[in-house]
Amino acid sequence: MLSKAMTGRTVDNRIVRGRAWYLDVHATTPVAEEVLAAMWPWFSERFGNPASAGHAWGWEARGALEGARDQLAGLLGIEPGELVFTSGATEANHLALMGVLEAAGAGSRLVCQPTEHASVLEVARRWGRQGGRVTLLPVDGDGMVPPEALEDALREPAALVSVMAANNEIGTLQPLPELGALCRAAGVPLHADGAQVPGRVPLGQVVPHVALLSLSAHKAYGPKGVGLLMARRRSPRVRLEPQVPGGGQEGRRRGGTVPVPLVVGLAAALARAEASVAAWSERARDAAAGWRRVVDDALPDVRWLGHAERRLPGHLAFVLPDRTATDMMRACPELGFSSGAACQSGAPSHVLLALGFTAAEAGRMVRLGWGPHLDEKDPGHVAGVLERGLGGRSLA
Ligand code: PMP
Repeated sequence: MLSKAMTGRTVDNRIVRGRAWYLDVHATTPVAEEVLAAMWPWFSERFGNPASAGHAWGWEARGALEGARDQLAGLLGIEPGELVFTSGATEANHLALMGVLEAAGAGSRLVCQPTEHASVLEVARRWGRQGGRVTLLPVDGDGMVPPEALEDALREPAALVSVMAANNEIGTLQPLPELGALCRAAGVPLHADGAQVPGRVPLGQVVPHVALLSLSAHKAYGPKGVGLLMARRRSPRVRLEPQVPGGGQEGRRRGGTVPVPLVVGLAAALARAEASVAAWSERARDAAAGWRRVVDDALPDVRWLGHAERRLPGHLAFVLPDRTATDMMRACPELGFSSGAACQSGAPSHVLLALGFTAAEAGRMVRLGWGPHLDEKDPGHVAGVLERGLGGRSLA
């Protein structure tokens, strides 16, 4: 029943009975069947520890692990040794920031910006408490970092710049080519949180501009609990202090037995997303444009969030003029959408506060997203539900 619940055919739980559509794809996505099929044998039939060097069970697991690493390195256009597997983008962000800052030495300087994910901002705060220096760049009304602001900030030495590729809450894409060029000129590594990138933006539009990149599987139809950090070994050579000390796994950069089934799933999910990114983006843009028209018709005073063009395809975020997000959820129970980031549910979005919205306005924020689990007719059905739920014109 799981995949049906996700595709908009049927949901049968205490809240919704009948057809329903999952639109909270920026929080997480279901595991695609082909990804699950690739992972399956590595749970039980082929269960070896990839670090067991003395027998066939270990060699087989090591083969799968290194095969996944090679596949991912090929997708990203980097060397396999430039990848460190982690438990997700949160841990990859932590390793990128703390790893580089600790390697650079006490008191070294981090430059980041206020609409980052909490997993970056919390590490930045911790670094500040430990006596490190942190500079927060300003953002414009769309949440974009003006390159001139980074240029100014880089007049003083810095150990690392961290600016996300795409914002999960408002969808804005940061100008990584410009920011990357400034960092290169200053000799400072640029890290980007790319959790929202796979399947939405071609990896080739992100990877060449950064020295470090965090990715996660579960935003792109892969399993939860796995991700990676790309950290370049050449031009620039990134030095990382391990944050999970332990055995010698992952080139001593991250201890712990590597979860082979999850890593196989990560590689399968990202390969699938990258192969489909052009087709998915087109369908995503069409669906979002249709939903946007319905919302504009029903709510002339709606405030759209994020950059109009430089944004994740299929991502819509807006502030309702006259009701809370919870009111809208009650009016449209057959739609699964959110009011900002799942990990921050309950608190007003720090992203909206950074853009100058009030806490009350943040409570009226809605985020919708298209994903390829929806079939061709689903966007039209969703538009009909939105029209009814928002009190727009007659149902189609
Ligand atoms: N960064 C961004 C931009 C995200 O959207 C998320 C997921 N909410 C994360 C990091 C954390 O990813 P994970 O769940 O893999 O730790």
